[in-house]
Amino acid sequence: MNLVVGNLVDPVFRPPSEWDALLIAITNGCTRKCTFCSMYRSKTFSIRKNIEEIKKDIKLAGVIYGNRVRKVFFEDGNAFVVKPEILIELTEYCYKIHPNLKKVSAYAHAKDITKKSDDDLKRIADSGFTMVYVGIESGDDDVLKACNKGTTQDEFTLAAQKCHKAGISWSGIFLLGLAGNDPEKSRKHAIESAKSIDRMAPPTLINWYISPLTLGITPGTELWTQRSTGEFQPCSSTQILEELYTMIEYTSDDLQKCIFNTNHASNYLNLKGELSRDKNKFLEIIETAIKNPNMCRPDYIRGL
Ligand code: SF4
Repeated sequence: MNLVVGNLVDPVFRPPSEWDALLIAITNGCTRKCTFCSMYRSKTFSIRKNIEEIKKDIKLAGVIYGNRVRKVFFEDGNAFVVKPEILIELTEYCYKIHPNLKKVSAYAHAKDITKKSDDDLKRIADSGFTMVYVGIESGDDDVLKACNKGTTQDEFTLAAQKCHKAGISWSGIFLLGLAGNDPEKSRKHAIESAKSIDRMAPPTLINWYISPLTLGITPGTELWTQRSTGEFQPCSSTQILEELYTMIEYTSDDLQKCIFNTNHASNYLNLKGELSRDKNKFLEIIETAIKNPNMCRPDYIRGL
């Protein structure tokens, strides 16, 4: 269960692996409006300007939770957008107040990273900020453009390499089904995503993380409207599995320490292991699931 101190504005989101983190709001909402994403539609993006108030929240958590805080997750949608000095000051303060703290992380858009210099990113890492979670969605620039992601495969590659160089762990999230059910587009989405994964690989032996999710179409989004007009037609469950298969198949056999995880509730299959070490095992499981759809999580369990 997350540790909270009453500083959050609903709705609140965080990565599954931050289920036990102290959640500290340093921004509200997200700077972008991707066509498939409804998460922060009810919020106008803003940065909390009063640093002393944020520090009070961090300190209050020490009073409430004592030495129990081991992780801090900065909210909201792309909290990494704030200036380096703010990230550094708040991260250092978190470690000062919480002696058992091991991890400080946030969601980031690629531009929040590429706009920061290598020196700034290194200083952020040195302050104890440990990980960014980045919604990449696709390696296909056409898909990225269509969903209004506001970035390209090249920029994601640069962002990942800048993080590796600085020592900030990289967790990239892809979105199966985002190209729709056109077989050619779906395959291109998968192949370009594999290429994107290869290009994000760190030059040294460090853990990095890739997690595909499966598209769910939610009310209030442009994609919802596009589906209702027929402009966007969603993939079948088989197509989603085929995309996952192709994405894995096309990744390089030389990837190392790439922790690959499809445990998100939206997915049909739960795969966990390392690319490339477990590549063949993953492909066999997916192939079997395509032939035996009852192996897949049913929709009512997928939490969509
Ligand atoms: S950048 Fe992420 S959180 Fe923001 S709108 Fe896009 S998908 Fe949603």
